[in-house]
Amino acid sequence: MSRVINFSPGPATLPLSVLEEVRDELLDYRGSGISMLEHSHRGKEYTAVHEQTSALLRELLAVPESHDILFMQGGASGQFGFVPMNFLQGKTADYVDTGAWSKKAFAAAKYYGTPRWAGHGKEGELYVRVPRELELSEEAQYVHITSNATITGVQFHEFPQTTAPLVADMSSDILWRPIDVSRFGLIYAGAQKNLGPAGVTVVIVRKDWMEQGAKDIPDFFRYAFIASKGSTHNTPPTFPIYVVGKVLAWVKANGGAAGMEKRNRQKAATLYGLIDSNPDFFRCPVEKGSRSQMNVVFRLPNEELEAKLIEAAAAEGMVNIKGHRSVGGIRVSLYNAIEPAHVDRLVALMRDFAAQHG
Ligand SMILES: *Cc1c(COP(=O)(O)O)cnc(C)c1O
Repeated sequence: MSRVINFSPGPATLPLSVLEEVRDELLDYRGSGISMLEHSHRGKEYTAVHEQTSALLRELLAVPESHDILFMQGGASGQFGFVPMNFLQGKTADYVDTGAWSKKAFAAAKYYGTPRWAGHGKEGELYVRVPRELELSEEAQYVHITSNATITGVQFHEFPQTTAPLVADMSSDILWRPIDVSRFGLIYAGAQKNLGPAGVTVVIVRKDWMEQGAKDIPDFFRYAFIASKGSTHNTPPTFPIYVVGKVLAWVKANGGAAGMEKRNRQKAATLYGLIDSNPDFFRCPVEKGSRSQMNVVFRLPNEELEAKLIEAAAAEGMVNIKGHRSVGGIRVSLYNAIEPAHVDRLVALMRDFAAQHG
């Protein structure tokens, strides 16, 4: 077996111990004679997994009783539609623009009302920060942010104060640190970055707000209906939820959300530290106060050198550091499961590379 260090933006690396446990249980889940891939979503084995996964997430993120946890499908992209379908109802909502994902969320909302932009984090065409000030509307049904813009590397380090419910796409930074969930009307996240494999979307929603959602849409699209059925109104993505449960147990064993924050800040500081100490060679376009602790984006003096760095890293068993095709450059994703030692190895390679080519 020769596993490489995978800095992919998603689907992303999983803790090795989680993969090993999944392997060991794959053919016969805990003496049941059946794989978790084959268990009924109404059977006792899967039901226990479903409930434990939800309970662990509640514990690790300190989700208050005022909020429900749902497991859905359709990814974060599906939530771009689910949110306005439930809550916009022909009215307006404030969207905050920190990159391509915010724009996609905005575009989906237009089918259900008239969303407006409350702020952009751009300098010319380049996203460089979380907007300094937001122009919020009194009519807004909610305020939508992308807590971590995976492509542009712009992250909210403090969340805006809003009177309307705050909705956050946390696909690429959920559980990177402790947060105050009570401040949010709704949080959604595709699992495949920081929580587990692709195929399940986690939604955390304030119950009283959810109950006010649209009633004139099919049950399948109503958060309140899904919550009332414990997310088993239809067949849930059983295997991804089972793996998410294992990732959450790994997070708990590694110090919970606070443990993740410590580890993640250390990793990001190591990488940004190298970038900032070589300003003639590495350049991060994002302002310091908005830099993502999860997706570190930067440029080299030219595209040829960027291609060479990607190649040099791959030759050393470090893969998937190419920037998103829409922005180019380099992007190194440092999700929870990335080990600090992995970052040290990449930074050592980058230091040598800069000395060689600078
Ligand atoms: C990856 C990502 C998405 C898209 O997720 P899907 O699950 O593929 O729909 C949306 N928003 C953010 C912030 C992302 O990182």
